[in-house]
Amino acid sequence: MHLLIGLLLILLVLFGRFSFGGSQPSIVEVRVRVAESVPRLRIRGFDLKIESRQSGIFQKSVFSDRMSEWEFDCQSGKVQARKLTSNNELGVDLGDSAVIRTPTGFLNLENQPYRNELKIYALKKSIKSQCDVINSIELEKYLDGLVNSEFSSKWSKEAVAAQVIAARTYAFYQIQAAQTQKLSYFDLDATTQDQVYNGSMKEDFHASQVVEATRGWVLTTGTHELPQPIKAFYHSTCGGVTELPKEVWGVSYPGFKRSVSCSYCMQSPRYQWSLEMNRTQLLTAIHKGVEKNGFPVGWPSESLEVLQQGVLKDLQIESKNPQGRVQRVITHWGDGHKLFISGTQFREWIGVSQLRSTAFQVRSLGEKGWRFEGKGSGHGVGLCQWGAKVMGEKGLKSDRILRFYYPDAVLRKLW
Ligand SMILES: [Zn+2]
Repeated sequence: MHLLIGLLLILLVLFGRFSFGGSQPSIVEVRVRVAESVPRLRIRGFDLKIESRQSGIFQKSVFSDRMSEWEFDCQSGKVQARKLTSNNELGVDLGDSAVIRTPTGFLNLENQPYRNELKIYALKKSIKSQCDVINSIELEKYLDGLVNSEFSSKWSKEAVAAQVIAARTYAFYQIQAAQTQKLSYFDLDATTQDQVYNGSMKEDFHASQVVEATRGWVLTTGTHELPQPIKAFYHSTCGGVTELPKEVWGVSYPGFKRSVSCSYCMQSPRYQWSLEMNRTQLLTAIHKGVEKNGFPVGWPSESLEVLQQGVLKDLQIESKNPQGRVQRVITHWGDGHKLFISGTQFREWIGVSQLRSTAFQVRSLGEKGWRFEGKGSGHGVGLCQWGAKVMGEKGLKSDRILRFYYPDAVLRKLW
């Protein structure tokens, strides 16, 4: 077993993303994609050092004294930089990627501050300019900025601590997944795709205090010697019962075996909701959804004609899972055609901020369309943020909150 631990440590250090020093705390770095496929971007900072890279290999450096602002674009797979604060209009060719740093530690990207360094990648997929921007940052610092984007540092300390540990675990899971699958040049998106991150602007004293107090604590499966982070999903309001990943995405994840009944989130403004939609709105949502994602699996070959005729007669729930979430809806069209849509897909097509969860009923309003009446907000997997908030207010400790929402995971201090 000691051999295994040794091997794991060597691998981690080789990957260069962790630094262990005996009993010294280690540093885990996360790469967050803070801009995706943007045609151009502006970065401002003091004494900027811009390094040009070609296929990851260092080419040259460009220095800029004092405060300067640069515009970058990624025409034809090449990062081009132009200094905006000088009369020199000539661009600098930086190869297919570039790293920007400043001795002050803070860079401004489109007027938002980011810590450490920003890396620009020119996407080669098309001739038109497409840049991705990655912010590499210490995981604990990333969490400082995340608290007030994903939740609020004003909530009770124990609730914030539970959420910080869930967010750290989720990020650490993604870091490991990106490494083992050698998937990508980033670990996480800065959007609801992963976790919302708006740079260091929203860091505050309360957030940093909780992050520091919970430093290194992660929800895991596996053994004491070889702990594995779980993919610690969380959401706004479960509406009474949490959900399993398999029910939402059709994929199982270690550490999620049981859903739990939660009576804590009843105070949430999204505990109950309703949404009315007329026929045209629903048709438009389905058309746009098909345009974006293609036909769902199992749709017959004549689906295109059925949609084009646009005779949507009725909409019903075909099946619900034991947690009360819609598995499939059935849409009735002209000439007796039926098209099935999964609950998750249907929610995405309508819009996740409109149809707040898949725990809904549907009522026909005749000519006026349909009324959806639902409970909760979000996918329902893992920690229920409103539930955690209330548990914290009731004086429950963060480990208790986490044990409640992740009953199949073990809390461990990994660094
Ligand atoms: Zn809840």
